Amino acid sequence: MPDLFLAAGAPAVQRCERCGATWPELDATATCRDCGGLLDIVLPAPSVHGAALLSRFGGRCCTHPGSEASGVWRFAELVMPGAAAHVTHPEGNTPLLQRRAVQAYAGVADLRLKHEGHNPTGSFKDRGMTVAVTHAVRVGATAVACASTGNTSASLASYAAHAGLPALVLVPRGQVAMGKLTQSLAYGATTLLVDGDFDDCLRLVREASTELGVYLANSVNPWRVEGQKTIALEALQQLGWDAPDWLALPAGNLGNTAAMGKALREAHALGLIARVPRLLAVQAAGAAPFAASFADGFATRTTVRAETIATAIRIGAPASWDRAVRAIRETNGVVTAVTDDEILDAKAVIDAAGVGCEPASAASVAGVRKMREAGVVGAEARVVAILTGHVLKDPGILVRYHQEMDPAPPRANRPVEIAAKLADVERVLKSRAR
Ligand SMILES: *Cc1c(COP(=O)(O)O)cnc(C)c1O
Ligand SMILES: [Zn+2]
Repeated sequence: MPDLFLAAGAPAVQRCERCGATWPELDATATCRDCGGLLDIVLPAPSVHGAALLSRFGGRCCTHPGSEASGVWRFAELVMPGAAAHVTHPEGNTPLLQRRAVQAYAGVADLRLKHEGHNPTGSFKDRGMTVAVTHAVRVGATAVACASTGNTSASLASYAAHAGLPALVLVPRGQVAMGKLTQSLAYGATTLLVDGDFDDCLRLVREASTELGVYLANSVNPWRVEGQKTIALEALQQLGWDAPDWLALPAGNLGNTAAMGKALREAHALGLIARVPRLLAVQAAGAAPFAASFADGFATRTTVRAETIATAIRIGAPASWDRAVRAIRETNGVVTAVTDDEILDAKAVIDAAGVGCEPASAASVAGVRKMREAGVVGAEARVVAILTGHVLKDPGILVRYHQEMDPAPPRANRPVEIAAKLADVERVLKSRAR
C-alpha cells in the first residue's frame, strides 16, 4: 500500500486511485489524465505529530481575524498546506449538541449531534467548497461548475461569489428543495434546471468541464474531500481527541463517507487518536445501492433509480463508491438503509427538540436508532451523528408533514385557525394543557 503521507515540506500530489499515476497539486484536472480514475490527495506529513500537532490546532481555536478562525483552515496541515491565501467565510466551528429527547429516541445514552447546518450556507458542503474554490483560484480558473442535489450548488454559488468567479450549476428540475435552489439564485450562479436526474447532471457537468474548460467543483473533486475531513477532525477536537465508538452520517454520493474514512485514517496514523471510531453510513431505502452492496460484502455493485423525500441523498449511482468501500472496511463500519417514514419520524424528533435539520440529515439518527434496535450499536456506545444540513433548506417537506399529509403523521404539529378572540386562544390552550 502506498504511503499515507509524503515527506514533510513536499507539495501535495493528486494520485489516481485506479492506476496510481500522480499529478501536481496545481493541475486542475478533474480526474486522472491517463485512465479517468478518481484522484486522491496525498499530503506532505505535518512537521510535528501527536500531541504537538494537537496543541497547534488547539492554539488556533477562536482566533480572529484570518483564516485560522475557520473550522476548516485551522487544520490546514491536513487540508491544503500549500495555500497561502484562502477563500473563506469562515466556515465550520459547528456545535456538538446533546439533546435528551433525541438520545431517548435513538436509545443511546451518549449521542452527540454534530450540526453542520450551522455552516454559512447551511450545510457541510461549505467545508469542501472553501478548499475547492481556493484551489480553483490557485490554478487560475476562470469559471467553476457543479452538478448538485442542491446544497453543493448553494455552497459553490456562495464561495464563487466571494472569490469573484462566475459559477455554473446544474440541478435536476423539480427535484431540488426550495431553500437550496433559491440560494443558488440569490448568490448569483447561472442555474440550469436539467430535464433529468442528479446522475444526468453529473454526467453533463463532467463533459462540460472536459470540453469547455470550466473548473469542476463536484465531490469527485478531491479537494472537497480534504475539506470535508474537518467534520471529523473538529468533532474529535471537541471531544478532547477521545474518539467516540461510532460516527454516523447520511450517505448519498458517498463523498462524505470517503472523507470521514480518510480523516480517521490520517488522524490515527499521526497519533491524534488512539483508536478509530466505526463509521455508520445511512442511506435512504429508495436510494440504497451502497447498503445493498454492503449486505453481500461489497461483492456486487449496482445502481438504482433513486426515489426518496431526502433529496440530498437521492442518488442512484454514487460517484465515490470505491473510496467509501475503503472507508467502511478500514473502520469496521456498517452501512444500512432507512425508509422515508423513519427519516421523517426522526426528523420530527430532532426538530421538536429545537435542533432542526433537513430530511437527509435525519437519516443519521434514524440509522443509529435502527442499528441500536438490531443490537449493532450498544446502549452504552458513545455516538456522534452528523446533521448535514439546516432545517430551512427544505421548507416544503415541513409544510407537507405538519399541515398537509392526510392522515396526519404521528408527530404532526398542525396549526390551529381561530377567530380574533381571546376566548379562542383560551380554548386552544386548555385543549393542549397536559
Ligand atoms: C450532500 C449531502 C449529503 C450526502 O453526502 P454525500 O457525500 O453525497 O454522501 C447528505 N446530507 C446533506 C444535507 C447533503 O447536502
Ligand atoms: Zn489513472
